[in-house]
Amino acid sequence: MNLKEKCVVVLSGGPDSATLAYWAKDQGYDVSGLTFNYGQIPMKEIEHAKKIATELDIPIQIIDLSSLKEIFKGVTSLVDENMQMTPAFSQPIIVPFRNAIFLSVAVAYANSINSTRILYGAQRSDAQFYPDCRKEFYKSFEKTARLGTDTQIIIDAPFSDIPKSEIIKLGTKLGVPYSLTWSCYLNKETHCGQCESCRNRKNAFIEAGINDPTKYLSQST
Ligand SMILES: [Zn+2]
Repeated sequence: MNLKEKCVVVLSGGPDSATLAYWAKDQGYDVSGLTFNYGQIPMKEIEHAKKIATELDIPIQIIDLSSLKEIFKGVTSLVDENMQMTPAFSQPIIVPFRNAIFLSVAVAYANSINSTRILYGAQRSDAQFYPDCRKEFYKSFEKTARLGTDTQIIIDAPFSDIPKSEIIKLGTKLGVPYSLTWSCYLNKETHCGQCESCRNRKNAFIEAGINDPTKYLSQST
């Protein structure tokens, strides 16, 4: 591989994409981060994505798509404060076509910096809930992106077959500062410890047998 091949990593502020960025740099890529303000309630995600980029010493672009929350009002409690977090609170929160929107912007960004590789941090259990995290989707999207840019752009999710606990193990070896990542659906001072995303995070550390540096408001699972 060309040691200076550029790649764009979509950072969410969470542990999976942080691990991916560390992994990509370790693989020798010249990594550029990309993250999104899509009007999400956990705006902390953006700050945490920036922290990861700073730690890893990579540039990061923050794309303002905050007006998207207008079309997601009443659709997902991740952007609509008026929607109750329960009973959906215990379920993954689905923002329609979110990943596809992000990948579209990532393709445009990659093209503008002469990069032909986009990596994003979908992991194994995402495919179950998010159709636009499935391999058949992103490989189909890759074809569309190639047609739309006249390049041989590659869209890949290297962790898409790996459980979250294995990602944590890999990231620990790579020195990912997990205390700087954010998973919670809420925007409190610390992780709530109870939402689906917090529980997945906690369980991944437990399964990996790795000390979880996260401060949770509630320790119960
Ligand atoms: Zn939480």
